Amino acid sequence: MSVRIFCDFDGTMTVTDNILMIMEHYNPPNWRSIVEDMMRGTRSIRDGVGSLFSLIPSALREDIVRTVMDKATLRPGVLGLLTHAHACGVPFYVVSGGIDFFIRPILAHIPPSYFAGVYCNSASFDPPTITITWPHPCGDACTDDCGMCKTTVMRHVPFAHTTIVIGDSITDYNAAKQADIVFARAHLYRHCLAHGVPCIAYETFYDIMDTLVHDARTRDAFTLHRLGGRS
Ligand SMILES: [Zn+2]
Repeated sequence: MSVRIFCDFDGTMTVTDNILMIMEHYNPPNWRSIVEDMMRGTRSIRDGVGSLFSLIPSALREDIVRTVMDKATLRPGVLGLLTHAHACGVPFYVVSGGIDFFIRPILAHIPPSYFAGVYCNSASFDPPTITITWPHPCGDACTDDCGMCKTTVMRHVPFAHTTIVIGDSITDYNAAKQADIVFARAHLYRHCLAHGVPCIAYETFYDIMDTLVHDARTRDAFTLHRLGGRS
């Protein structure tokens, strides 16, 4: 049975949320109230993320990339799961509300072929401040004004019998509801529990790998057939 993985980036593949880290580092006026509005749901994610980056001068682009590269750490086991999924032919999609100018440098040392797709936002650095562009907006089936719409991406990439979602935040919840297996931590874990959405807790990607190679729904897909005909 075929399997596909959709994985969040900030706070999931990385240990901390890079957008929040950028805002804490540069501390533009009123950023915390924008984040609070997004968490309360009184501001859409697209509106909130766009507003946050509009507070940051475009000239800081290289400085932001250096700051992120200094501070961002991949969660333990990420490379192991990517390597194993690639070897088994299981597509691994990054679905992120983050921005490509800091995501791609963090992923630069991982072979691009390990990713079936990296879906995230982009940015324009025309002065004076950063403008987020939205190459993957909500389709007709989503009215949440996501900015980068994870459920729209899930509907448009090739189908698999078993869909896995890995996340940490409320912004992964709609994707989690459409998954067959959810790996959740932090806000996403508490939100899934509160709303009766089945999920499996994780801290590292070693935890996730351990489940995938043993779970009856995924173990065949995650078994390397070294002696079989698979090349
Ligand atoms: Zn959406």
